[in-house]
Amino acid sequence: MAERVIPLVDQRLAVRQPFFSPVPAQAGGLLSDQLGRSLHDLRISVTDRCNFRCSYCMPKEVFNSHYPYLPHGDLLTFEEITRLASLFVQLGVRKIRLTGGEPLLRKNLEILIEQLAALKTPDGFPLDLTLTTNGSLLKRKAQTLKDAGLKRVTVSLDGLNDEVFRQMNDVDFPVADVLEGIAAARAVGLGVDADGRPSGIKINMVVKRGTNDDQIVPMARHFRGSGMALRFIEYMDVGNTNGWRMNEVLPSAEVLQRLQADHGLVALSAQQPGETAERWGWCGPDGRHDPSLGEIGLISSVTHAFCGDCNRARLSTEGKLYLCLFAHQGYDLRSLMRQGASDDTLLSAISGTWSQRDDRYSELRGQGVALPETPRIEMSYIGG
Ligand code: SAM
Ligand code: SF4
Ligand code: SF4
Repeated sequence: MAERVIPLVDQRLAVRQPFFSPVPAQAGGLLSDQLGRSLHDLRISVTDRCNFRCSYCMPKEVFNSHYPYLPHGDLLTFEEITRLASLFVQLGVRKIRLTGGEPLLRKNLEILIEQLAALKTPDGFPLDLTLTTNGSLLKRKAQTLKDAGLKRVTVSLDGLNDEVFRQMNDVDFPVADVLEGIAAARAVGLGVDADGRPSGIKINMVVKRGTNDDQIVPMARHFRGSGMALRFIEYMDVGNTNGWRMNEVLPSAEVLQRLQADHGLVALSAQQPGETAERWGWCGPDGRHDPSLGEIGLISSVTHAFCGDCNRARLSTEGKLYLCLFAHQGYDLRSLMRQGASDDTLLSAISGTWSQRDDRYSELRGQGVALPETPRIEMSYIGG
């Protein structure tokens, strides 16, 4: 396949100075953005590299050997990440998700996990610390991750059929190895929430119509009753390189129809505000919800935007704060830190920037509002 030219405008260079809140940020105080949304989740990208080339995220023609990945010195160190994370926690963050790129490619990641696992909320509770991975290195690393203090994992898996899976990851990676990784994660007990209660491993499947939609029902059958929640994600128009087209999106409503044609499901209520997935529980033979069979989630980022209660901030691999997955620019926290900013200055920068936030890209797109054509940041850089 021909190599595609990397867009001339590198969105990683679009950087802004943070806003600073006029009053010193109060530890433990709840932040609110322009639309009244508080800050609860922090997604931290620990690398912009990956060993897969999923066409919806890092298409091979763009992310090839000529692609300018971030140089090592640009990456936040573990100490810098932990310092920022602890400040985010002071400002309301209760859940941290490590992501990438492929987070398990970051060398010595378990050291970072140990540092993050030691953080406590202002009332002394541990954080909900989790990680999203493509599962390729999980078999090897599950025990070390667990020992370091990781609570849960989400594993991305786009099909059970080996041929389809190899096509989705585009590096000929066999599905059996990811399944072994998932089994290893279960075996070491990677599946508990912040309070130590069992809360199974999550499996994410991005659905692309015409490519892996024949895997919806087999995946559902495989994970039903397994104690793991399978979540179907609508293929999103993130970044600028995946050649997204609406006709490749299979709306969640259609996913649900296909699932219900195979097995009964009932709608479940949301557990927490800001939850991205609509939850459905499997029915038993009597047609009633059987909690022992577990649940599925539908993440309808395209057809049913959930910006209204989006409480997620994203920290890029080199320390920029992004307020939306579809952002055009980030706010540079690394420079501030490396210039010697105090914790109070950083708290003021994070809270000031969050309080200016009015992003609601998916909602506006869903309403047919014409959005600026400015290039967006890539998913592999900012983390999912
Ligand atoms: N490499 C890890 C993985 O794949 O789990 C973590 C990073 S990946 C960017 C995080 C999540 O984003 C994955 O579950 C992936 O399937 C999802 N994702 C990436 N590109 C997407 C797209 N265009 N639409 C929907 N989900 C996408
Ligand atoms: Fe890599 Fe994850 Fe993106 Fe696939 S979705 S290319 S595994 S970062
Ligand atoms: Fe949040 Fe932006 Fe996604 Fe809306 S489009 S849910 S604001 S990340």
